[in-house]
Amino acid sequence: MIDELESLLDRLEEDPLNAFITLRSREEVLREAEELLRKGLIPRPITVKDNISTKGIRTTAGSKILKTYVPPFDATVVEKLKRNGYIIIGKTNMDEFGMGSTGENSAYGPTKNPLDPSKVPGGSSSGAGAAARAYSLPGLGSDTGGSVRAPAAWCSVFGLKPTYGSVSRYGLVPYADSLEQISPIGPTAKSVERLLEIIAGKDDKDATTVGKTEVSGCSEKGVEGMKAFVPENALDMVDKDVKAEFERALKKLDGVELEFSDLEELELAVPAYYVIAMAEASSNLARYDGIRYGVPPEELPPLTENFYEYVAEVRGKFFGWEVKRRIVTGSTVLSAGYSEELYLRALKARRKISEKLYNIVKDKVVLMPTMPTKPPSLAGERRPRELFAMDVLTVAANLAGLPAGSAPIAEGVGLQAVAARWRDCDVLRIMGVFERPVEAPWL
Ligand code: GLN
Repeated sequence: MIDELESLLDRLEEDPLNAFITLRSREEVLREAEELLRKGLIPRPITVKDNISTKGIRTTAGSKILKTYVPPFDATVVEKLKRNGYIIIGKTNMDEFGMGSTGENSAYGPTKNPLDPSKVPGGSSSGAGAAARAYSLPGLGSDTGGSVRAPAAWCSVFGLKPTYGSVSRYGLVPYADSLEQISPIGPTAKSVERLLEIIAGKDDKDATTVGKTEVSGCSEKGVEGMKAFVPENALDMVDKDVKAEFERALKKLDGVELEFSDLEELELAVPAYYVIAMAEASSNLARYDGIRYGVPPEELPPLTENFYEYVAEVRGKFFGWEVKRRIVTGSTVLSAGYSEELYLRALKARRKISEKLYNIVKDKVVLMPTMPTKPPSLAGERRPRELFAMDVLTVAANLAGLPAGSAPIAEGVGLQAVAARWRDCDVLRIMGVFERPVEAPWL
């Protein structure tokens, strides 16, 4: 085991995919592994997305404004991992504050796709997806609007956003609280299931957690007798090759009764999601002034007379473009003249989508492709609309708080399953059909 860990650490040191923002020291990792072995436990290496607080380990959320922030506490999920014999290997790269779908919006450079380094790995949990694929490392990401499902699809691994309220967000650097959950991603369906079992449950430090989902054994249960709804209009929104792979994958779901029909409300998902996500982000990100923590004092601009101007200057300097765009748009949709026309309308659309989905998932899972295309080439700047369109099939589950997972069905293509609240098990049952044999002593 120690030998395998050492060779993993050798490979990680080079990190040609730029999957990590911070790697832990070799000595610390090996010391923890030996201690676990002495206690008769299997040391399980794991990655943690860089927006999840880790005591004593730098946590930047992919932003320059948190470049030197070292949290004095662990997120609840991190505490749970440590108690269960997991060893944090490093903090994975991500789009700044989770804002992006490709992994190109990180202030620490883009992550590359292990299947083809000229392509994007998907985001915002880009490093987590790349590490799951390239090094067979399970990890924790976060999913506000698809951020573990996108990299799961484009890196051909497994990712699951749990039911809203089942996993504590205490210690997650917030982007849009009403939409996001810390979410497992890994090389096998089993590894995702095991992580969810550990991190799920009520937490006194997060009042939105209400209970625990039982997911033990679900990925091996099979799908006999399940019913599924396939939104036909979703298939018109995806590339031909993605559609063909998806239809081929449906044939593997032996014993599942399929119903095909339109889900018109899908059209509302992207506009509703972005209005709500940006509104919440503009409020959440107000806390960063770069002065109290996060930026080395020598990099701060010289003090000016006016405090507000000074904070604006600091924020202007240390936030990336996409983040600034969203703060400005978010404040606009909440402002007096616009909130009824934009924010309240988005909430109504959210209600409409959610109610439609609740009705369908009462006795069925929804199946559709995860991403509308295969992974695109690394491009640097992208037009916001192009970026937003990538999320058309993932954000509805966040708006409705439903569990949703992505399983690999071809290189760079994922099949997504969405189930009723608390039925994360049904999502894992579908994911289990596409389980992959992956050899690693920690899996
Ligand atoms: N692509 C979406 C966004 O940029 C989703 C991000 C996420 O899930 N964190 O908001």
